[in-house]
Amino acid sequence: MTRKSAANGNRPSAPLHWGQAGGWIEAVVGSMFSGKTQELIRRLRLATIARQKVQVFNSALDTRYAKDHIVSHDSAKIPCQSAARAKDILTIIEPDTQVVGIDEVQFFDEGIVEVCEALADQGHRVVVAGLDQDFRGVPFPVTARIMAVAEFVTKNLAICAVCGSPANRSQRLSVSKKLIEVGTQDKYEARCRRCFKR
Ligand SMILES: [Zn+2]
Repeated sequence: MTRKSAANGNRPSAPLHWGQAGGWIEAVVGSMFSGKTQELIRRLRLATIARQKVQVFNSALDTRYAKDHIVSHDSAKIPCQSAARAKDILTIIEPDTQVVGIDEVQFFDEGIVEVCEALADQGHRVVVAGLDQDFRGVPFPVTARIMAVAEFVTKNLAICAVCGSPANRSQRLSVSKKLIEVGTQDKYEARCRRCFKR
């Protein structure tokens, strides 16, 4: 079956037959408490059930939980390998790996964009999750660039902890001015545009 549309030309509207043709990038982005890591774990689990070889990476900067697992806020977890620099992923990747998962992509250096592109070019399915905005509401450059080059972007919304509206910002509740404050529930909450305070 081929699926074509005028808008897409010869490009399939969904990756039904991309298995042999080569790789792509899926970006799952949003604020804190929007279920990004859960969604990443869900996609990687489905690949594992289909007996695809999966390798999962997080940044050595992400020290919230055990370094050898990615853990979502609802305690779903999947084994992962820790990489200090983005380019380390290219040396850790095994030749028969089909699917590459990367969590908290904003913790990586800018080289992660080229790494994701190289992996997709080599035929890997690359599934990346990350924060799209920092605690000031400013886009993370790494996430913004990944969203630009990805074939598929899923933008998750959380629920505003103040008013219950759809929320796309992460409100920092502590006074720290560090750009990356490794977070837990008591340091941040999801806020909508209206309730977010800079
Ligand atoms: Zn609100």
